[in-house]
Amino acid sequence: MRLRRGKEPAPPQPAPGPVPSYVQPPPGARNLVVVVLDSLRHDSWLQAEPEVLGRLGAVERRYTYATWTAPSHYNLLMGLLPHTNPVEVYASEYYKQDFLRYSDRLNVPGMEFRRLLPSIFLPTYLKHTLGYRTHAMVSMPVLNPHTAVNRDFDSFELMPTHNDMAAMLGKMTFSDERPSFYLLNVGETHYPYAQPGEDPSKWPRISGVHGVFKHLDDQPGPDSTEFFDATTLRELHGRQVEAVRYLDGVFARLFDLLPSNTWVIVTSDHGELFGEDRFFGHGPVCHEKVLEVPFVEGVVP
Ligand SMILES: [Zn+2]
Repeated sequence: MRLRRGKEPAPPQPAPGPVPSYVQPPPGARNLVVVVLDSLRHDSWLQAEPEVLGRLGAVERRYTYATWTAPSHYNLLMGLLPHTNPVEVYASEYYKQDFLRYSDRLNVPGMEFRRLLPSIFLPTYLKHTLGYRTHAMVSMPVLNPHTAVNRDFDSFELMPTHNDMAAMLGKMTFSDERPSFYLLNVGETHYPYAQPGEDPSKWPRISGVHGVFKHLDDQPGPDSTEFFDATTLRELHGRQVEAVRYLDGVFARLFDLLPSNTWVIVTSDHGELFGEDRFFGHGPVCHEKVLEVPFVEGVVP
């Protein structure tokens, strides 16, 4: 290559040809849509008996790797979906096998775990190795676009309200030239389990949840009978079940708009406690109900 001096005129350059700005995707690669129903525990799904979601396949009880939204989503974006709790299996081996399942999901034969390295991040792999468009729409501020999980996404949006999956649908686009990956983090199933039309002033208030931090220095603190009002907790669980029934109708619309052959995964990032063993919510909770999550996947029905 000849080096050019500062004042020397630049030699004529060949006219730029069409340079592909992305990796050419493998033929037949499927769109992938991962929907995370935030905080939805497995038995709420069973109680709701969602008919549309049932068309995707039989729901499994699986287990999350983390009890809180941020680490759980990071783990998911490493390509690790909620696990089946297998015995006598090494973690690294399970991870490799779980990753190779993407070969079927994406209809991309011959995927290799080593190609996921060194980033170990699914959007990076999908975008830079397989030529996918990568998008995320999230409901929880803890996943906002400034956080570390926003890496190698073409678009990443924190939705204006925390509980409106339907508002995501109109923003989804698909291309015939390149497959798309969408991560949708859905908030209707998150506390206070509110559907989008509900007046926020009518949302439930648990004195412990809203007051325990505010009045931490007051004496005496909220007592346990106030925190664990059994009727309120039962109603809250019922609201999460109703949120699933409402979302089932939104899934009907989602399934209508997805191109045929799109692979859909619906799961949760962690479960939720509704007063069992005096726990509420998720996060600093070590209880099987915060680990149990629903999991279903398949080609869009
Ligand atoms: Zn969460």
